[in-house]
Amino acid sequence: MNAGPVVLLVEDEPEMRRFIRASLTAHGYRLVEATTAKEAGLLAPGHNPELVLLDLGLPDEDGLSVTAKLREWTRVPIIVLSARGREEDKVQALDAGADDYLTKPFGVNELLARMRVALRHAAKAPEEPRLTFGELTIDLESRTVKRSGEEVHLTPIEYRLLAYLAQHAGKVLTHRQILSEVWGPGSAHQTHYVRVHLAELRKKIELDPSRPKLIVTEPGVGYRLRGE
Ligand code: CA
Repeated sequence: MNAGPVVLLVEDEPEMRRFIRASLTAHGYRLVEATTAKEAGLLAPGHNPELVLLDLGLPDEDGLSVTAKLREWTRVPIIVLSARGREEDKVQALDAGADDYLTKPFGVNELLARMRVALRHAAKAPEEPRLTFGELTIDLESRTVKRSGEEVHLTPIEYRLLAYLAQHAGKVLTHRQILSEVWGPGSAHQTHYVRVHLAELRKKIELDPSRPKLIVTEPGVGYRLRGE
């Protein structure tokens, strides 16, 4: 019966492995386990996993180097598992190519929900010309945005910001990734650009800009457009 997606779990803590093993096998996932970065590097190519759950604090190398090595040959979604309060680690992992992160301790439902989003992203057809999020429609061909059928007038920067977040809906994007995509590679440290333009964008697309529902802030990390 176990014909679900193959997940590579890279984690050195036995209790955490036991918790994840129990959660995933109960939901039909097939699990391959590694306890060190070295083991992960050996197991990944042979098993060709559809998803990687990666602890950042490993006994030999850190999870960042595992992420970088995986990204040399695969686009497999990587969800990083990290300790509370290590925002910089998460940001570095996302910048290195990880797709998402979970802060320990996390519950089964949160884990499964993040995994579903990551797997859906990986399976998604490349370009949908029209993206819909509740009342909001973004037409990537005509570069128009409508809310409840009414056109929303965005500046070119606001449009690029929204389109980038929308094309990666459900995924957290770091300040650096957003700056590099929307403003160009030279602006990686101008995080205030994002804050200022995002505030303007929220005024135009959120029902209550002070309590945004569509584009949420991931404190210390970046922003995420909610997928559904
Ligand atoms: Ca660890």
